[in-house]
Amino acid sequence: MRTFGYRRAGTVADAVEQASAPGARFYAGGTNLLDLMKSGVENPASLVDVGRLGLDTVWRTPGGAVMLGSGVTNTAAANHRLVRVDHPVLSQAILSGATAQIRNMATVGGNLMQRTRCPYFMDPGFEHCNKRIPGSGCAARDGLNREHAVFGTELACVAVHPSDMAVALAALDAVVHVTGPQGPRTIPIAEFFVLPDPNPEVDNTVGPTELITAVELPPTAGPSHSWYLKVRDRQSYAFALVSVAAVLRFDGDVIASAAVALGGLAARPWRVPDAEARLAGRRPTEESFGHVADLMLAGASPLRHNAFKVPLAKNAIVRALTLAAGRG
Ligand code: SF4
Repeated sequence: MRTFGYRRAGTVADAVEQASAPGARFYAGGTNLLDLMKSGVENPASLVDVGRLGLDTVWRTPGGAVMLGSGVTNTAAANHRLVRVDHPVLSQAILSGATAQIRNMATVGGNLMQRTRCPYFMDPGFEHCNKRIPGSGCAARDGLNREHAVFGTELACVAVHPSDMAVALAALDAVVHVTGPQGPRTIPIAEFFVLPDPNPEVDNTVGPTELITAVELPPTAGPSHSWYLKVRDRQSYAFALVSVAAVLRFDGDVIASAAVALGGLAARPWRVPDAEARLAGRRPTEESFGHVADLMLAGASPLRHNAFKVPLAKNAIVRALTLAAGRG
């Protein structure tokens, strides 16, 4: 049995200070971290419980942004009126993930910080995993990689990020608020997740002693039409093979702007802004959506067992955009 310390933080400043102890880790819902501790993938010396810091509210700023406290549960975030009305694509994404029981425990901050579900990472019995043991190699590259990346496959790790919520946040240009020893700062979601090189063990740009305090959803520039489409091996309780968060804004009958984020294909939610921009001024047709899908997927470089993801992603992009366009 491995022992570890536990202490409940009283304030954000207290949590940040406690996190500076060697081997300390933040703990909130525990839906991923505790599993990894049980399997021996994670071995923190102590847990800093940040579950009672009052970060569990959703509010609107005077400027119109919707703020999600990092301790808001996934269930509460998905069902909050401000999210459902202003950003329904986020509700859809969150509700497509995990189980109701897990969503009741998992938090907004924890969702962003969850680790990949690559089976070679999840099982310490496998010796070759650059994310778990940097420099040890990548068992998935020549192993079972059906569920792995099609972008960035030349890198040291070919795992995908498992979060549905993050894909919607990417399409919404969310901003992550963190507080660390140097005080608060913000991280645009496009700069939050990192690709595996040169440090495959690092998933994001949050420092080890920085605590996520909130996620900001910027105000929308007028009404939007959106859809989150998740394709998976079974109807529920499964991670995405491919997912698409599509957000469209219209000027009359033509598209004024489009945001399309892809999940299940890379170490981070994948966007191709140049491709998205091609939709501006176009009518919402299958042809225009297919053209954008081709552009978005042009850089894909599948592994041995996941080439199917490329045509699957094309169909998913076209379908998500079509469903978004048809939504009032
Ligand atoms: Fe490890 Fe990444 Fe390779 Fe999976 S894909 S075995 S997480 S290095």
